[in-house]
Amino acid sequence: MPKLKVTVDPDLCIAAASCMGSAPKFFRMDDDNRAVVAGADGSEAFTQILEVTDAEKAAILEAAGSCPTTAIAVEDIA
Ligand code: SF4
Repeated sequence: MPKLKVTVDPDLCIAAASCMGSAPKFFRMDDDNRAVVAGADGSEAFTQILEVTDAEKAAILEAAGSCPTTAIAVEDIA
């Protein structure tokens, strides 16, 4: 399974929420209206290491591509 490091830059996030539309399983809003990444254990953080399926990886890449401020970085780590 692909392993990704997914990061949201909270200084760039403008709460447009398009990431949630593309990959709702992996992006949520925190109390300050910034996107956070949801981990497999239910944790929420600006950076997560995620093991995903190919379809989930595609959804995460689509989310990153849809972000109007390029606040989401996706790094392939395995
Ligand atoms: S799409 Fe970008 S700006 Fe919008 S909530 Fe997600 S990370 Fe923030």
